Amino acid sequence: MMDQMKTFVACLSLFACLAAPAHAEWVRRITDGIMGTRITVELWADDQAKGNRAIDAVLDEMRHIDETMSVYKPTSEVSQVNAKAADGPMRISKELFDLLTTAKEYSVITDGAFDITYASVGYMYDFRKHVRPDEAQIAKALPAVNYRHVLLDPKNQTVQFSQKGVRIDLGGIAKGYSVDRGIDVLKSLGITRAYVGAGGDSRIIGDRFGKPWIVGIRDPRKGPGEVIARIPLVDAAISTSGDYERFFVENGVRYHHIIDPHTGHSASKVRSATVIGPYATRTDGLSKTAFVLGPEKALEIYNRMDDIDAIIVKLDGTVVYSKGMSRAQRDKPAEQQR
Ligand code: ADP
Ligand code: MG
Repeated sequence: MMDQMKTFVACLSLFACLAAPAHAEWVRRITDGIMGTRITVELWADDQAKGNRAIDAVLDEMRHIDETMSVYKPTSEVSQVNAKAADGPMRISKELFDLLTTAKEYSVITDGAFDITYASVGYMYDFRKHVRPDEAQIAKALPAVNYRHVLLDPKNQTVQFSQKGVRIDLGGIAKGYSVDRGIDVLKSLGITRAYVGAGGDSRIIGDRFGKPWIVGIRDPRKGPGEVIARIPLVDAAISTSGDYERFFVENGVRYHHIIDPHTGHSASKVRSATVIGPYATRTDGLSKTAFVLGPEKALEIYNRMDDIDAIIVKLDGTVVYSKGMSRAQRDKPAEQQR
């Protein structure tokens, strides 16, 4: 009788094991404090522990990028470059070399609107403390702003600044890059459905079981919860730049964190620009363009690129869309869209 009982219990527990497979679910974490921004990772995992390990790996990768690329950390590789690259060619990591190469490509694509040497003037602004350079300081530093001053030698993997006073800052591309690296980490761990966001830059892989992910675009003059549009996305990156992110107003003038490389002043030709594309490095790099060049010229550039769409909130509050998102295009039957 006892033996029968034991067998019965053993069968029951075996059945329990078989009937309770790993508990697959959505796992989500929001973290502040890396790259001075909010990181959100959400993914579908076989079980919660596996999901959390994957998120840890993404955050580790982002911390590494912050350590390498932050200009706020004197020990970072970028800070070392700023300190020494005007003295002669300096060998740098492959990762930084490749990102500097990409940054220069975006400068060319955007007619110089995106330019990491904006920092030669930009370092004199402190938006939290309401500090800005005066006209004389800007005029003196401005000749150092030009992406052509950053000389890259792929053979020796070196960077050199062609003149003194040049500084770089990857704040306009590093978050997008870290999102792409985060997605790479997740893919290498076998994750196929995920959202990774760092501040205004996000990327999505996969769908939500037949449904797209929905990303809201904030209304530039309203609170964080108020959106001008909700965009359904699958396998895409999206970046929004806004004049409401880091700014102060003095004598009616809004000074904010995107700098026109041609003038050294805040680039104020739009209120916000959202760019949608395949990679967050790319959408991040391109989202500054409309501030510097204005909505018409920026749309012209975005429309030239097959993989890019954009939504721009103009200074008067009206919203304009790139070709691929405009109503006429949307309403065409699919076979005519080629
Ligand atoms: P976030 O930092 O929230 O992602 P953005 O993507 O709009 O915001 O990037 C703004 C940042 O880009 C600025 O804080 C600055 O570090 C950098 N930046 C400012 N002006 C330029 C420019 N003309 N070209 C490249 N980067 C810029
Ligand atoms: Mg960004």
